[in-house]
Amino acid sequence: MKESKLIRLSKSSLSIHEQLEVIKTIDSEFLGYGDVSKRFEDALTKSLGTNAIAVNSGTTALILSLQIAGISKDDIVIAPSFTYLATIQAITALGAIPYFCDVSLNGHLSIKKIPSDLIQKAKAIIIMHYGGVELEMNGLLKWARENKLRVIEDSAHSFGSTQFSNKIGDRDFDFVCYSFDGIKNITTAEGGCICAKNKNDQQRLKDIRLLGVKGDTKKRQLNLRTWEPEVSEQGWRAHMSNVNAAIGIAQLNRSKELWEKRKKIANFYYENFINYSDLLRLIIPKDEGVVPHIYPIVIFSEDKLKKIFKAFKANSIQYGRHYFPCHRLDYFKKYSHTDLKNTNYLYKHLISIPLHCDLSRNKQIFVIDNLIKNIKD
Ligand SMILES: *Cc1c(COP(=O)(O)O)cnc(C)c1O
Repeated sequence: MKESKLIRLSKSSLSIHEQLEVIKTIDSEFLGYGDVSKRFEDALTKSLGTNAIAVNSGTTALILSLQIAGISKDDIVIAPSFTYLATIQAITALGAIPYFCDVSLNGHLSIKKIPSDLIQKAKAIIIMHYGGVELEMNGLLKWARENKLRVIEDSAHSFGSTQFSNKIGDRDFDFVCYSFDGIKNITTAEGGCICAKNKNDQQRLKDIRLLGVKGDTKKRQLNLRTWEPEVSEQGWRAHMSNVNAAIGIAQLNRSKELWEKRKKIANFYYENFINYSDLLRLIIPKDEGVVPHIYPIVIFSEDKLKKIFKAFKANSIQYGRHYFPCHRLDYFKKYSHTDLKNTNYLYKHLISIPLHCDLSRNKQIFVIDNLIKNIKD
């Protein structure tokens, strides 16, 4: 790859292995859902320690999980406003109503402020593991079950994180949704997967991602089709193709290496920024169990943050602002009920600095220098 001056915020990290898998798949002339998709699902299942169902995006993973959780028109789903808007679009895609909830200052949904009548009315809750830092789920699942809420985890940021269990399969959950879009912790170009604890839910998920055709997954894994389909519920064209899965197989083989690179960069940032705790706050902790997806930093002074934005632009360093509050987006404004204090605060004070597997040490230092120079005075 050509070294360019631009320092990218995030990007895919690909090798000859992804190229070879894709060429093999193209040569086979079976491109849709099939044997390669199955191989990827088997590899995912091994890596996660629980059955994984591959779909065509993280957003789809959320929509299908909500449907199987029993969500339909006018049902209330509690969700953070502080998330990527896909989380909320998944709710409204089913005609359901998002109830926006505030987060703590580390970006994790905080259930303390949800009114109790609302908890009674809601049917499900979506939580998001911001930045790759996991929310401890045992307590939340217990609370949710007491209140008859299904729990959907938007784990788009946290593929590979092992803070509370080595594998997802080792702990309790309802639905866990991953994204493998171009910049996530592993990629399939576009894609995602769903883990569901309940066997019956698993089977229904497999069916509804293939237009609801019962048992079609098994047929297609053998490169066969169903000519007399049995369909009893709403389905979608939501499966993962062989081509996308081919990229995923190579990425999953390289996942340990990819995750270590992310962790190493985050640790280097941590070591360099931790001395400035009077001026900023780090979101990604020093924790071996975190595979960071982004590197957000809270800058206490808004003026200094503006200076940093300007300096980054002048030096061709891309930055991100994860996230603009969803409750303030035009399409979702009608669901907005109260001022979400921490959500608004975080948006005003956060910057995400470059983090991807191919970011050289020199570039990391350049980013650090630019930030520190502009925060000191
Ligand atoms: C990426 C992402 C999604 C959506 O995943 P796609 O694969 O891009 O559809 C959902 N939620 C969060 C928090 C994400 O970062």
